[in-house]
Amino acid sequence: MKSTGLVYHDSYLRHYTGRGHPERAERLLAIMKKLDAEGITRSVELLSPLKASREQIGYVHQGAYISKVEVMSARGGGMLDADTPICPDSFEIALLAAGGVLKAVDTIMEEPTMKHIFALIRPPGHHATPSRGMGFCIFNNIAIAAEHLKREYGIKRILIADWDVHHGNGTQEAFLNDPSVLYFSLHQYPYYPGTGWLTEVGKGAGEGYTINVPLPAGTDDAGYLYALNNLLVPVAREFKPEFVLLSAGFDPHIDDPLASMKVTSHGFGLFTDVIKEIAAENSNGRFVMALEGGYNLSAIAESASAVFHSLLSETEAEHREAPTPAEVVKSRVEEVREVVSRYWSMI
Ligand SMILES: [Zn+2]
Repeated sequence: MKSTGLVYHDSYLRHYTGRGHPERAERLLAIMKKLDAEGITRSVELLSPLKASREQIGYVHQGAYISKVEVMSARGGGMLDADTPICPDSFEIALLAAGGVLKAVDTIMEEPTMKHIFALIRPPGHHATPSRGMGFCIFNNIAIAAEHLKREYGIKRILIADWDVHHGNGTQEAFLNDPSVLYFSLHQYPYYPGTGWLTEVGKGAGEGYTINVPLPAGTDDAGYLYALNNLLVPVAREFKPEFVLLSAGFDPHIDDPLASMKVTSHGFGLFTDVIKEIAAENSNGRFVMALEGGYNLSAIAESASAVFHSLLSETEAEHREAPTPAEVVKSRVEEVREVVSRYWSMI
């Protein structure tokens, strides 16, 4: 088996969100077309997902909410919130999306040569809370995979990094009290969904295990790299995750129609280098990415390609003498560092 994999299924295209909705099937088609054209689909292991079971969805979501989605789908569809339509197939496809990340983590746990897998799934998941779907998300794919790693394999420390431009409120809520899952989010702030300020650090036993880096609109590659290198890298060194998960949204891209960040496609490859290195240092390379947002078709195709180039590269990442970030980003990172240093000594 190769060391880099990709999870995909044509059924992901059947989650229909209605005309003009930004979270649409064409997103995955654009990414797959680009990966095919570049020969990437031939260089990686292609993996096909199975549907997550109701029990596995229940690791994170309340039974009443799971039933609500099932019934709404069976009755022909409806709206989970103002942004989150579901169609007759959506329940089954949301099970297959969660199952896509489960397939990725199972493959890595069972195949010692496999290190990195990108699950190209939809609907996305990081806004889905235990009790409700929102922001285009039905079930929290990455949170379910983290719980699966804990329950099925006894993994004790999991890092979930999240560079989607929106704060992953659902993932944060799922692990707010849980010190076995370190949630680290970079996001535009203030912005949808409104959560993710730097004082949100987790609760009870989980205090210190939620790290929010609210970045100003206009943050570019240099700003993201600065935050990753100065916050995530030192904390990860101390936390020593046994498995690294990443919510990979491509909506911080400069061409994204919804958000206002200035990340380039190349930048996502550099961010992947950083997180791949964290995995190499701490988790024997074990690293799974799950697609979240990103709404400009050519931007997400190019960004996904840059990510795979990083994952497939055997050589050490190019050194990251990143250009100096904007002062507003630097001072925000300092504010976060002040909060985080109460819990982590290496920072
Ligand atoms: Zn997003």
